[in-house]
Amino acid sequence: MSPDVTSPHPAVGAGSAAGLGTAAIASSGPADDDAVRLTRHVVADLHHELVRNGLVAWTSGNISARVPGTDLLVIKPSGVAYDDLTAETMVVCDLAGAKVSDDLSPSSDTASHAYIYRHMPGVGGVVHTHSRYATAWAARGEPIPCVITAMADEFGGEIPVGPFAPIGGEEIGRAVVATLTGHRSPAVLLRSHGVFTVGATPRDAVKAAVMCEDAACTVHLASLAGQVAPLPADQIDALHRRYQNEYGQR
Ligand SMILES: [Zn+2]
Repeated sequence: MSPDVTSPHPAVGAGSAAGLGTAAIASSGPADDDAVRLTRHVVADLHHELVRNGLVAWTSGNISARVPGTDLLVIKPSGVAYDDLTAETMVVCDLAGAKVSDDLSPSSDTASHAYIYRHMPGVGGVVHTHSRYATAWAARGEPIPCVITAMADEFGGEIPVGPFAPIGGEEIGRAVVATLTGHRSPAVLLRSHGVFTVGATPRDAVKAAVMCEDAACTVHLASLAGQVAPLPADQIDALHRRYQNEYGQR
């Protein structure tokens, strides 16, 4: 059992009423309490998307969200099975990554998530996975080239590789911010580790994680038969612009 697993079952120490009540101390009023409560539900539900989309094995991977209008984030507890994740088992932390309520212990990646929120003000959600194909690219330390329209749409270019960083502190967060700042991609492959994605909302970050894995798989399969040519830069720009501004229901 890894050292950051503190509870064999989420019911232990989760105390929903106690957790929410104490979290409210760090917020400023009933509206913030509602925002914390809603964000707990959103983050818990989105974790099930990671399972549904085959992005995680056992307890690996995590999602966090900034609590709108506060200096708080909500994140997955450490080492708890996906089937046991509920709104009550989510963990509320401040933007320094410190737990502010009587919740379970937060994900071992919490300090890095907090670093990202502090340094990327437009980010409302962060996702981390070791999804299979994307992590295979990360293991090779190779960016995923932009060779298909779906990548131009979602990522606006290649999916970049960030440096290797140790787990547990904010070093991973630094690597994510350093790689994604000034880059259109909401996804980064951390060398020899896995994927981090960001989004304006946690759902956007989950979508980027799903699309990243899909692209990683497709481009890998295409590459098996030889070199694949990247799309021209002007085509990538046009596709990205159209997808970001015109695609879908407006
Ligand atoms: Zn990881």
